[in-house]
Amino acid sequence: MGELETVIELAKRRGFFWQSFSTYGGFGGLNDYAPLGSLLKDRVYSVWGGIYASLNGIELDSPNITPEDVLKASGHVERFSDVAVTCLNCHTKQKAENLVSELGLQAKNGLPEEFDLIIESSGIKCPRCGGKFGKAYNFNLMFRIDGEDGTFYMRPETAQGIFVNFKNLYNYNRNKLPMIVYQKGKGFRNEISPRQALIREREFYMAEVEVFLENDKYDSFIPKGDVDVTLLDRDGKEHHTNLLKASENGLLNPDHAFFLEVTYGFATRVGIKKERLRFRQHRKDELAHYSRDCWDLEAYIDENWVEITGISDRGTYDLEMHQKYTGKNYEYADGKIARVIEPASGIGRIIMAILTSSFRKRESDYNYLDLPDEVAPYRICVLPLQKKDGLAEKAREFMEKIRSIEPFSTYDESGAIGRRYARQDEIGTPYCLTVDYETLENGSFTLRERNTMEQIRIQSIDELLSTGNILTSPAIIKTRKLRK
Ligand code: AMP
Repeated sequence: MGELETVIELAKRRGFFWQSFSTYGGFGGLNDYAPLGSLLKDRVYSVWGGIYASLNGIELDSPNITPEDVLKASGHVERFSDVAVTCLNCHTKQKAENLVSELGLQAKNGLPEEFDLIIESSGIKCPRCGGKFGKAYNFNLMFRIDGEDGTFYMRPETAQGIFVNFKNLYNYNRNKLPMIVYQKGKGFRNEISPRQALIREREFYMAEVEVFLENDKYDSFIPKGDVDVTLLDRDGKEHHTNLLKASENGLLNPDHAFFLEVTYGFATRVGIKKERLRFRQHRKDELAHYSRDCWDLEAYIDENWVEITGISDRGTYDLEMHQKYTGKNYEYADGKIARVIEPASGIGRIIMAILTSSFRKRESDYNYLDLPDEVAPYRICVLPLQKKDGLAEKAREFMEKIRSIEPFSTYDESGAIGRRYARQDEIGTPYCLTVDYETLENGSFTLRERNTMEQIRIQSIDELLSTGNILTSPAIIKTRKLRK
C-alpha cells in the first residue's frame, strides 16, 4: 500500500474522515470530517488563527453564497475555469491538463485549441474506455445557484467576501495599513476529477488571509531569515536559503517573503516535516488571472509535490475591479488602492500532509502518528490498568478533573492495556495516563509517551492540573523530554 492509501485507510477505520454519502454509493470529492478529523481540523485552524491574530490580524466570516455580479467583477465568471474534454464514447469528462501532463507535456497558454493539438498529435485516448475525445472546451469551476432574485454561485474562494468589505474593515482597523484580514470557511469548486480524499474535493475548508499594503511600499514586513527553506524559482532553479536573503537577492519582495516565512512556520508547527516542504514559483503562464506573482508551498505526499498553500501577490486587481463595477470608493487614500498579498491554504490538504508525514511504522505492527502535542485530536487518554478493584472509578475521577481544563481528552477501559495504548498511538495521542494499584494507595500514576512508549511515574494529579493547561503542566513537560 502506498503512503496515501495507508493513511486514507487509517483515517477511515479510526474516524478521521469518511467518504460522504457512502451508503448511496459515495460521490467523489465530498468527504465527512469524522470525530477525530473534526478535532484535528479545529486544532489546525486554531494554530493558524492564533498566528494571524498575533500579527494584529482581524477575522471576517462572510457568506458562502455569492451574487453573480461580485464574481463577474472579480473575473471568476469569465475566467475561473479548467480546460476539459469529454469522451465521445463513454461521456466521462477529463481535465485536459492531467491527460497531457501524464505524458510530460504542457499547453503553453492553457488554451483549448492547444490541448486539441496535443491530444490529437499524441494520440491520447480516454483512460476509461479507450474512446476518442471531442473538442476541448473551457469548463467553469463554480457551482451555480438559481436564486429567486438572480444568479448566485457557491464561493470558489473566501477572498471576495473580504475584498468587498474593504471599507468596513479599513474603518474598523482605524484607517491603518498594513491590515491583515483572515477568514476560515469553505470554498466550492466543481472539480472535473475530484480524487485522493481531501486533496481534491468539491468543497473544502480554506484558511485565507488578505494582507492589505500601501500601494507603493514593498517592505511593510521584513522576514526574520531564521529558517532555511527550498525555493524553486520559475526558471526551475533551486535555492536553499532563508527568506530574508531571498528577498535581499531580489527573488521576491520583502513583504511577500515575510508571508512565505509565516506560512512555513505554520506548516511545520502543525506537524508537516521540513524535508517534505518546498516553495515553488508559478510560471508566468500558470498564474491565476488576478495574480502577478505566486509562490506555492508544496508538501511531498506519496511521491508527488502537492500545493497546500498559494501565496499570491494579487496587486491591486480585486479592489480595483470592485471599484470599477460598483462605482463605490475602494481607496485607502486619495487615488490610492491597496495592494494585496494573499496566503491561501487548504485545510484538507494540510491535514493530508500532516497525516502522511507523521505516520510511523513500528516493527510490532503497532503504528503511530507523530503529531505535535498542539494538534493531536486528543492530548491525553486516561486508562485504568484494569476495570476492577476500584481502578476504573479512580481513573474516571481523574478524567473528570482533566476535562475541566482539557475537555478534548479521552478515556478507555476496554480490552488489554497494550491494545489500548496501541489504539491511542495510532490516532496520535501523545500521552496516556494509567491508573494502577499504587494510585489507589498514594494518588501517583504513570504517564506514557507515545513515540518512545516509555513511562514515568508522577506523584500527584496536581502536577498535571497546576498550570490550567495540560501542555504546560510540569508532568507533561517531564514526559515530553523522553521524546528527545
Ligand atoms: P487556490 O486559490 O487555487 O490557490 O487554492 C488555495 C488553496 O486551496 C490551495 O493551496 C489548496 O490547498 C486548496 N485547494 C484548492 N482547490 C482544492 C480542492 N479542489 N480540494 C481541496 N483543496 C483545494
